[in-house]
Amino acid sequence: MKTCPNCNELLGNDVNTCFKCKYDFELGRVVTKEEKKQRADEEKKKREEEKQRIEEIIVERKENQNKLEQEISDLSKLPFLSTTGYNFDGCTIYRYIGIVSSEYVLGTGFISELSASVSDSWGTHSKKMENKIATAKMEAMSTLCKRAVKAGANSIIGVKFNIMTLDANMIVVSVDGTAVMRKEIK
Ligand SMILES: [Zn+2]
Repeated sequence: MKTCPNCNELLGNDVNTCFKCKYDFELGRVVTKEEKKQRADEEKKKREEEKQRIEEIIVERKENQNKLEQEISDLSKLPFLSTTGYNFDGCTIYRYIGIVSSEYVLGTGFISELSASVSDSWGTHSKKMENKIATAKMEAMSTLCKRAVKAGANSIIGVKFNIMTLDANMIVVSVDGTAVMRKEIK
């Protein structure tokens, strides 16, 4: 405990200003009403400036967010493109979204159909097979593009097809690539 040198009030050791007479231990004197008002005004001003600053930051962030959303919305209006390469002429990769993949399974039907008709020429066989696989690739690619669009992409780079057999009766055509947002260089 300590005693206020001005009014002799008993005060706690950590008290800086006497609650009774407003004696300020740091200044070593009583704080006048004008000083008190001035201090309060300064603090109020500081608080208002801080509030103003925070509001400005919020507005700025909101503007940036809107700008970004507008930019992404503009980019998604570009025609959808895909490539086996890793870039597009006149464009930069604005954002990498992620790997997308799709599979198309060719069932047992057409294989047995092919092996059953041995009398057919091999040319017919391979033509049939080619058409089936071409269709499967198209279907797999179509699904891949839809998935990329859903993920927010406007392009796919590094498109790669894979064809494999699952037990002798099934062929899986798979395709994968990296979904990206491309941006035209102006
Ligand atoms: Zn006092």
